[in-house]
Amino acid sequence: MADVIIIGSGFGGSIAAKRFTEAGHHVQLLELGEDWRSPAKLQQSQDTKFILRLFRDYPVDYLQAKPKVVVTQGMGLGGGSLVYSGIHLRAPASAFTGWPGGFTRARLDHYYARVEQRLAIAPLPGAASYRRSQVFAEAASLRGLPAPVANPLAMTGCTGCGWCVPICKWGKKNTMAHTYLADALATGRLTIRTNVKAQRIARSAGKYQVYYWGTGHKVDNYHTVNSGTLYGPLVADWVVIAGGAIESPTLLKRSAAGLAGFDTSNVGNGVDGTGDFVQGGLVNRDVQAYKGAIMMNHIDRGDYVLEDIHAIPVGPTVKLEAAFADLQIHGQDRTWGLAYKQRFRDFGKRLFGIGIMGKQGSGTVGNITVTDEAGNARLSNTAYQPPPGSLEDARNMITALGGTPVRTLWERSGVAATVHPVGGCRMGDASSFAVQATNLEVRGNPGLYVIDGSVLPGSPFRNPSHTIAAVAERAMDVILGVHAPTTWPT
Ligand SMILES: Cc1cc2nc3c(=O)[nH]c(=O)nc-3n(C[C@H](O)[C@H](O)[C@H](O)COP(=O)(O)OP(=O)(O)OC[C@H]3O[C@@H](n4cnc5c(N)ncnc54)[C@H](O)[C@@H]3O)c2cc1C
Ligand code: SF4
Repeated sequence: MADVIIIGSGFGGSIAAKRFTEAGHHVQLLELGEDWRSPAKLQQSQDTKFILRLFRDYPVDYLQAKPKVVVTQGMGLGGGSLVYSGIHLRAPASAFTGWPGGFTRARLDHYYARVEQRLAIAPLPGAASYRRSQVFAEAASLRGLPAPVANPLAMTGCTGCGWCVPICKWGKKNTMAHTYLADALATGRLTIRTNVKAQRIARSAGKYQVYYWGTGHKVDNYHTVNSGTLYGPLVADWVVIAGGAIESPTLLKRSAAGLAGFDTSNVGNGVDGTGDFVQGGLVNRDVQAYKGAIMMNHIDRGDYVLEDIHAIPVGPTVKLEAAFADLQIHGQDRTWGLAYKQRFRDFGKRLFGIGIMGKQGSGTVGNITVTDEAGNARLSNTAYQPPPGSLEDARNMITALGGTPVRTLWERSGVAATVHPVGGCRMGDASSFAVQATNLEVRGNPGLYVIDGSVLPGSPFRNPSHTIAAVAERAMDVILGVHAPTTWPT
């Protein structure tokens, strides 16, 4: 019998696995997705048919459903770190305003540094020599914006090929599977089960029981499994829920009836899209946007950042459904036909994409809610707003380069799409928040924790993984008694 069951293996789950095993505890890890550690399998991941085995989309049928908000997250051993771009930015001090539990930027710096060391975080060598970096810097200068700063990345020996999404097939990305989970495995106290979905957690006779489904009958979209043989229970003293911003609140809701009572009014609401937006355009420069790591630089605008985006040719047309203001027919955007094709003829050179991340316009507490229908997570259909001023900055940078901003799906249809959701099980000091901020324990349920992006009270105004990881390290210090809830390392 394991001492601890951890559900999910992203940033929160992997850090919990390392810390518990290194403290002498036996851990059973359950992960919905597949194990991608084999180098041979990594090669296959570049084939687009593997995308639905590596990503979770909410709603799953978004091309047909035409929702106003779309969330995409990673899935597999290592969670989002498998598919992410490896960008680790510390949140600015202003992002922590109103955070519970005594969290401040200064207090979290110690934990940021710890994560940076383990993931060998450093800027890509030679980042400034790429054309994309140079054009990005030129546009910033033309608009009088602060000069871009190289992004710290979790990569070692990276060749800058830009194929990080879905997985680095060269093994140069320092994913959580390659680092924290490898450390946990080295203790001999970690057991991993992949392709299993935790169905619910119950408490009986002072222990926790975890029931789970196998995903074996599915070939993709494992997160939609909600029936079939139910396995378990696995029994342990402690359970860590670490399924991410969408699945963790869903699992906690499914489990509520079998646990000691806690206030569920804040479970599943307050999901924040981290102000995630992309603005593209065709500029009068040879950008070579398809060379170099995914986002190599950022411009610090306080409440938000602008980042240069790697762009493969399908990006703007398929994913963003880009359109041009002057290419319309009967008042409708034309995203097909010869004129559209000709416009994009040399976009391999001229495409310039800018990513935005920050404090979303409609407030810091988020507006996406998550319900649990028949075992599957479902999102409310309300788009979050861009950080005020951010789209204008991006469009101005494009026009400063003699370019034309494309009309994105946000502009045309009000659709917001995020790969950076946080919240859903927001930690709090008040009893109306199920997860208490000091140690991320579910109130009334000793030894049951939520440790992942779902506990963040709001957007960290930056790519969120670094803050998720730092908060997880902090929680583990308190859980393992390294620090009292009120004492912080200096
Ligand atoms: C394409 C892409 C690029 C990104 N790039 C960056 C970046 O450069 N920098 C950055 O900071 N962030 C980036 N992100 C966001 C980042 O991946 C997430 O913020 C981060 O992974 C969230 O960590 P987490 O621990 O909350 O959960 P996750 O990393 O999402 O991990 C949760 C895991 O739990 C599993 N799971 C869920 N439910 C269950 C269940 N019921 N049973 C068993 N297992 C379950 C999931 O399969 C998943 O593997 C990117 C995301 C995407 C999709
Ligand atoms: S840029 Fe290429 S080598 Fe570097 S991490 Fe991404 S996929 Fe790997």
